[in-house]
Amino acid sequence: MKKIGILTSGGDAPGMNAAIRAVVRKAIYHNVEIFGIKNGFQGLIDDHIEKMDIGSVGDIIQRGGTILHSARSEDFKRDEGQQKGVEQLKKHGIEGLIVIGGDGSFRGAQKLTEKGYPCIGIPGTIDNDIAGTDFTIGFDTALNTVIEAIDKIRDTASSHERTFIIEVMGRHAGDLALWAGLADGAESILIPEKKDELQEIVDRLKRGQQRGKKHSIIILAEGVGNAFDYAEKIKENSNLETRVTVLGHIQRGGSPTAADRVLASRLGAQAVDLLLSGEAGKMTGIQNNKLMTHDIAGVLEEKHTIDLSMYQLSKELSI
Ligand code: ATP
Repeated sequence: MKKIGILTSGGDAPGMNAAIRAVVRKAIYHNVEIFGIKNGFQGLIDDHIEKMDIGSVGDIIQRGGTILHSARSEDFKRDEGQQKGVEQLKKHGIEGLIVIGGDGSFRGAQKLTEKGYPCIGIPGTIDNDIAGTDFTIGFDTALNTVIEAIDKIRDTASSHERTFIIEVMGRHAGDLALWAGLADGAESILIPEKKDELQEIVDRLKRGQQRGKKHSIIILAEGVGNAFDYAEKIKENSNLETRVTVLGHIQRGGSPTAADRVLASRLGAQAVDLLLSGEAGKMTGIQNNKLMTHDIAGVLEEKHTIDLSMYQLSKELSI
């Protein structure tokens, strides 16, 4: 291959820029031309394709978001959209494509691969909801953002002796809530993978209160439901005054952590190596700190799972 392309798709995640940088630099290191496609798959259809050079990715390793921008494209979910995408790539002589994004983006990459156009996926989403990799790019940064926010909420929670319910992102996955809950010593963690009885949560809050605890933190993953509804239910079942904070998009922004930058650099470089060695329809990943390769088709079929021992531990530590 002499020309390859790169795009970012779906929700942006901190560390995507570090991955773009790694892909661009690694391609150039191998004397391969690299083209950036702006605005995800929609930009591919619309021919937002530009050649990148070493300087295109200077001074971006520390920046959140994605310099290639991202988009959600309904057009690309249809066969005509995908055909158009392949035509555009071929028009520029681009022989392979690297897609950074979540599972939706991987479906797009898989569709192109099935049409005979080689694609490699790099997992980039704060949700950490992709099978075949212990971590996705952006998860560690989002986790640290959540922790910082909770630490601040804790100050006001203890001053006013209140119970706070904090809703975090993660779509259908509970990773962000689980890790944040453990890192912040939350009283309860509500995640979609494990149904906690409301009574158990209330009992734990009351036990804390009885031993003089000044505040309580409950972390709720967005996949479980609405934090305001839970606050209402807790109030109905106890006399506890609750406050709700929905952290929202703050979790998607910010400068990537060292862990995310390193992960992005490793996965980005691996993706280029895979494409140049003739692989197609593969995802790069990391398991037990070793780089791994999986078929995208398999990754999409397999369900991402959380580490239930961590959930159990969080309960044991917040008795
Ligand atoms: P995040 O997890 O951050 O939301 P994601 O990659 O899962 O990221 P999606 O919105 O699900 O985000 O998908 C991103 C884009 O991938 C879609 O807008 C669409 O262009 C493309 N895509 C998703 N599903 C398909 C599909 N079945 N076929 C072709 N393209 C798809």
